[in-house]
Amino acid sequence: MDSQENPSRKIVPIVPVAAAEDDVQMVSLYAATQKIYPRSVQGIFAKWRWFMVVLTQLVFYGLPWIEWGQRQAVLFDLGARRFYIFGFVLYPQDFIYLTAILVISAFSLFLFTAVAGRLWCGYACPQTVYSEIFLWVERKVEGDRSARIRLDGEKMSLEKLFKKVYKHIVWMAIAMWTGFTFVGYFTPIKDLGMEFFLGNMSSWEVFWVFFYAFATYGNAGFMREQVCKYMCPYARFQSAMFDKDTLIVTYDAERGEPRGARSKKADLTTLGLGSCVDCSLCVQVCPTGIDIRKGLQYECIGCGACADVCDTVMDKVGYPRGLVKYSTEHAMKNGWTKEQTLRHVFRPRVILYITILVVVVAALFTSLGLRKPFKVDVVRDRASLARIVAGGKIENVYRLQIMNAAEKAMNYELSVDGLRDISLLLEGDANVAATESRWISVRVQLPYDAATPGSHPIQFKIRAIDEGGHAQSELIEKSVFLVPR
Ligand code: SF4
Ligand code: SF4
Repeated sequence: MDSQENPSRKIVPIVPVAAAEDDVQMVSLYAATQKIYPRSVQGIFAKWRWFMVVLTQLVFYGLPWIEWGQRQAVLFDLGARRFYIFGFVLYPQDFIYLTAILVISAFSLFLFTAVAGRLWCGYACPQTVYSEIFLWVERKVEGDRSARIRLDGEKMSLEKLFKKVYKHIVWMAIAMWTGFTFVGYFTPIKDLGMEFFLGNMSSWEVFWVFFYAFATYGNAGFMREQVCKYMCPYARFQSAMFDKDTLIVTYDAERGEPRGARSKKADLTTLGLGSCVDCSLCVQVCPTGIDIRKGLQYECIGCGACADVCDTVMDKVGYPRGLVKYSTEHAMKNGWTKEQTLRHVFRPRVILYITILVVVVAALFTSLGLRKPFKVDVVRDRASLARIVAGGKIENVYRLQIMNAAEKAMNYELSVDGLRDISLLLEGDANVAATESRWISVRVQLPYDAATPGSHPIQFKIRAIDEGGHAQSELIEKSVFLVPR
């Protein structure tokens, strides 16, 4: 029955209810990248960074071109499973040296970080070094910060197109040369150069040259600070290696605040201002675009550019330098002098890192110094275990891999010991060319009743004889001799 049929029933109007607004807010986690235009800077830390750029790149680009005897001085020949490092020829069996180098690298990083924060990031990391080189090219072609900002804001013109194309060509040339040099550590660089010009490079060589070049071009040309901020894991765990005596780039807030612009002659006490003139130059020079005055931030790579530029500002306004400087939390809190701060560098943790480093480096060099110029692997021939041969003797067959790590051909004298009347038969010679390795089959024989059935330990003695007939060194390798029942 509806309302028309029952007039006593009250009609309630239906009022549309508006959806609750703004209870839930959509928050976008995406933030468009703000391009950073670092201003050029001069000062002591900028000089150190350029020194490291030149040094690391002289080593990187120059090393593959150095000759050592008849070969490239540093070559990681993965195909032949051999590493050549000046006078050393390392085989996969020398893996322990690689381990030692990794331990030294890790503890060096711990040490530098404990002493002075992100020294590696600010001065020697390839990302910093190539960003610095690419930025230098950018400045030469497009001008310093304000000129670059202006150019990017302009409409496309012939001049802008020319500058952009020119910059990218130079960047690509540097990136290609870097990729070529990188591959030159794994394949002889002179041959690689010839192959490049003749168009004979293998597909893997082409892939790695272009891959490494592309990574250099992308990381140093476009991604720069984003690699440090979002991709590099080191930024995330650096704070675990810092303590209150670690030197980090610090803004002296007590001295600098309250910040504010003022005329050069203004009396700070009357104005109630600190030393910071709020010029924002420290932000403009920062390669990661942060403001050091907000305190330590994980984006800070410790490059010291803000300290350099702030010192020049302090010089101009006639205030003492060091408003932004390398200092420690303890030094800032206790007002230590530079000498007092440096005295706290040698704390137990730093001494421990130095001790470990000294021990590992000494062990590495001692081991390299005592290293025999050849290696031998003994493998029992599984196809023929023990057998009875002519003369009623028991024979076991072995394969010896002799790896000659010397730069000259060697002859090897082989003998066996460990059981009465045991003898060794070698077919052919045991000559191995310089830095080569070779498998040699040997038969070891024992009179029938010289040993009881079972497995008996024996030793192979291998002696290296040079071309002049002089014995060089000797190795003993253990194995077993099987006597059947
Ligand atoms: S450069 Fe120095 S004076 Fe200028 S804003 Fe930065 S901290 Fe202040
Ligand atoms: S805050 Fe200073 S030290 Fe840190 S990255 Fe920026 S310029 Fe370099």
